[in-house]
Amino acid sequence: MSSTEELNAQELAAGLKKIRRRRWFLWFLIIAYLPLMILALRSPQSGQAVVAAFFIWVLVLIVAVALMSLARCPRCGNCFHMNGYLFRPVRKCFSCGLHLNADKK
Ligand SMILES: [Zn+2]
Repeated sequence: MSSTEELNAQELAAGLKKIRRRRWFLWFLIIAYLPLMILALRSPQSGQAVVAAFFIWVLVLIVAVALMSLARCPRCGNCFHMNGYLFRPVRKCFSCGLHLNADKK
């Protein structure tokens, strides 16, 4: 393997790692929804707490989805999860078909 190929493999791995991290953040948020609501319901002013917790959760979710849609494919440079203007959290790049785990073989 030449040094340029090694560098490309490193860039690819780093880029895919970043995409995977952002995907995990979104999953974590979805899983955290239920415990967050249970915690809010147990608080003394549960009505207000549930509304506040919900709005904060939605805000963080919007940020997480935005970060994910802006994540670029390390191979072709297009947005990894975007198919035109549609956001689709699939495990392959829409433009070049690069798999999310292409660096793990
Ligand atoms: Zn791509």
